[in-house]
Amino acid sequence: MEYEGQICRAPMERASFMLPIMVGCSYNRCKFCNLFRHLSYRELPLEQIEQELKRVKGVGGNPKRIFLGDGNAFAQKNDRLIQILEMIQQYFPDCEEINMDATVTSIRKRSDEELRKFGRLGVRHLYLGIESGLDDVLAFMEKDHNQEQAYEAIRRLKHAGMVFDAHIMTGVAGKGRGAENAKALAEFLNQTEPAHVVNFSMFLHKEVPLYQNILDGSFIPASERENLVEERCLLERLDADILYDGFHDFIRFRVRGRLPRDKEKMLSRLNEVIGRTPETELYSYVQGECPALERCEGGPVWKYDS
Ligand code: SF4
Repeated sequence: MEYEGQICRAPMERASFMLPIMVGCSYNRCKFCNLFRHLSYRELPLEQIEQELKRVKGVGGNPKRIFLGDGNAFAQKNDRLIQILEMIQQYFPDCEEINMDATVTSIRKRSDEELRKFGRLGVRHLYLGIESGLDDVLAFMEKDHNQEQAYEAIRRLKHAGMVFDAHIMTGVAGKGRGAENAKALAEFLNQTEPAHVVNFSMFLHKEVPLYQNILDGSFIPASERENLVEERCLLERLDADILYDGFHDFIRFRVRGRLPRDKEKMLSRLNEVIGRTPETELYSYVQGECPALERCEGGPVWKYDS
């Protein structure tokens, strides 16, 4: 199947068969997100999805894990999602798990029985965009949930036999609030115990609504060094059994391991990179077109003129 847009999935899904069932994200409102902003959301016809299943089976494919794309696939209407899951069972009866991204709302709008049915139909891992541990940050970023709603949704999805995985984002609380966010997030993650935590540390884009907040001063970005310090503060406090993967693509740094077993090793890697990351303000801008930024001597370092 020709893929439209950007392929976006957690690293633990890289070996899964990626089956798009929609184009874009039905929510598409998180202020920082540019993944699907350029696409008009639409559901792919069931015939097209079946064609793809047929094609893969025809070339001898027999995937054990399938990831349904794009963003927020769990928000599809019950009937349609059930039809897709049944089609997968029909073509690939050996498939062990079907995973996808979800929002808190896509869980809250379903009954316990409906959630159990998805568990029975093979849905296993739901990746939720938790992002922050602070309610005011979630509201500012226009996430579709607050902490209380997330706690309740996670309790219910686990009760229905599915696995909770969390996407988080260092830097999301802005300059000077990294430690506060890390402490709140650690408490949330220790209580909700996701199997995986993926930290896609914040990237700043010109095309997203957050850019206007940067221009009018209502959001002051944290530097990459602050984001690393925030991550260290988070890891120090995490004591649940979690497979953690943290990406700082702008400075090409990644820290991963199983917590709490690998905590000391991970902290030492972080300390090392914090030690060599310049105190100079370094921001992970995708495009250096923000007027408040000035490139230092043509290099990768951006000065933020607040
Ligand atoms: S739900 Fe996910 S994909 Fe959709 S806008 Fe928010 S962050 Fe982006």
